[in-house]
Amino acid sequence: MASPNSTRFIFVTGGVTSSLGKGIISASLAKLLQARGYRVTIQKLDPYINIDPGTLNPYEHGECYVTEDGAETDLDLGHYERFLNISTSQANNVTTGRIYQSVIEKERRGDYLGETVQVIPHITDEIKYRIQLLGENNQFDFVITEIGGTVGDIESLPYIEAIRQLKWDMGTRSLVIHLTLIPYLSAAKELKTKPTQHSVKTMLEYGVQPDILVCRTEKHLNDGIRKKIALFCNVDASSVIESIDTDSIYKVPLLMREERLDSVVLKKTRASAQRPPKLKRWKNFIKRLESPKSTVEIGLVGKYVELVDAYKSIIESLIHAGTVNHCRVLLRLIHSEQLSKENILEQTRGLKGLIVAPGFGDRGIDGKIAAISHARQHNIPFFGICLGMQCAMIEFARNVLLMPRAHSTEMDARTPDPIIDIMEEQKKIHLKGGTMRLGSYPCKLTAASKAYSIYGKETISERHRHRFEVNNKYLKAFEQGGMKATGFNPETGLVEIIELEDHPWFIGVQFHPEYKSTVDTPHPLFIDFIRAAKILT
Ligand code: GLN
Repeated sequence: MASPNSTRFIFVTGGVTSSLGKGIISASLAKLLQARGYRVTIQKLDPYINIDPGTLNPYEHGECYVTEDGAETDLDLGHYERFLNISTSQANNVTTGRIYQSVIEKERRGDYLGETVQVIPHITDEIKYRIQLLGENNQFDFVITEIGGTVGDIESLPYIEAIRQLKWDMGTRSLVIHLTLIPYLSAAKELKTKPTQHSVKTMLEYGVQPDILVCRTEKHLNDGIRKKIALFCNVDASSVIESIDTDSIYKVPLLMREERLDSVVLKKTRASAQRPPKLKRWKNFIKRLESPKSTVEIGLVGKYVELVDAYKSIIESLIHAGTVNHCRVLLRLIHSEQLSKENILEQTRGLKGLIVAPGFGDRGIDGKIAAISHARQHNIPFFGICLGMQCAMIEFARNVLLMPRAHSTEMDARTPDPIIDIMEEQKKIHLKGGTMRLGSYPCKLTAASKAYSIYGKETISERHRHRFEVNNKYLKAFEQGGMKATGFNPETGLVEIIELEDHPWFIGVQFHPEYKSTVDTPHPLFIDFIRAAKILT
């Protein structure tokens, strides 16, 4: 489809306020272009100074999403993968910290041959390089680059300047979509366009004329409003796209299709539009999402439950798995710090399954262990992810194998029974950024295991983010007690999966299956967990 140098670059900026859903708009547009047969990728540029979000806590930044190649990235990359069913990589998420790091490294190497190193052109050149890198070798027809933050922020200035330069160089091979808010004032009963006008003016001050405006709104935009926005913001009325609030992010591609966002993009970038988007599978997914035959309520135990973004991928994986099982998954987020042996029954009443979330540090561990004990003893389907699996083993060691002080050395360095211990290669690591066991590793499943029957194959590959592992010295004792390791890293013997024998569904995984569940291919473990929750209790 593409000839040399025909990759189109689409920039998505945001104005007026944050949280308008740039990531979802970018992913939705990408989905529509992909459904027309184009090869598309998305990139997120984040204007903060951390090298990556790996060192940010969830209060700051929500979930840290891990790619196949082990990059710790922004949670928007999770949306990209879930919508497009393609893998992203390190190159798909770049922060200001990383940009400056490479410029400073070049300066130290002497690459700039005595020049004064400045924001323009050196930082902007580095930004342009990172954007264009994805277009190299004609791999993609479209590269969609989302700029984090809001136009007008000091931090995002170099990015807007880089876009200005690229737009100048590329002409119709590039365009800018600006996402803004059209607030509704209930007192006046009116939608207001002024913040959008101001936001576009700010863009113009920086020398960038947006080509398309995507207007987030809670009420439909009538023709009059569209014309007014078009007139004040120098775009044609067909380039004023309504983005109405909706109850599911997965409906946004269809809403964008109705607004013809993809057609406008193709027309403006002079790309051919021979084929309408094939959205049958997507529409089927929405249909199942909208008309579930039953409901199951699942409890998610973690220490960040007040933040919906902290467990984003798990929550989305449950939605995907629900559609496969024709049921709606209701989620009860349970704060591990508020859970105890005494209140567990009341807190989990009505739940058909329990997930214990990944995490770090000892806050809320006792609550997690109480939840696991309850699920184990009452045959409630249990799914432990990363720290959740480690806690399941701690619970089992303490209450079944009678090692009352068994623990992970992450929480108790002096435990007499370190059933979870730091990985050998982690012992010499002191720097925190990007140093965990990250990304995709193979895992070999034991033939006669639940995991094997769920995956339907012997070797799987899943993504990781951890420093601690099962201490294999204790494996025999676990096995004799009825908890079996059923998945191992074939090279190192590291335990990847544990299962309880005498339990309808009790599985713990050291990896993060939630990073691999997409609309097109929901994850088998989540599908089976929901299936079990539906029928077993
Ligand atoms: N804190 C644990 C470890 O580092 C678990 C990490 C996680 O849940 N992602 O091994």
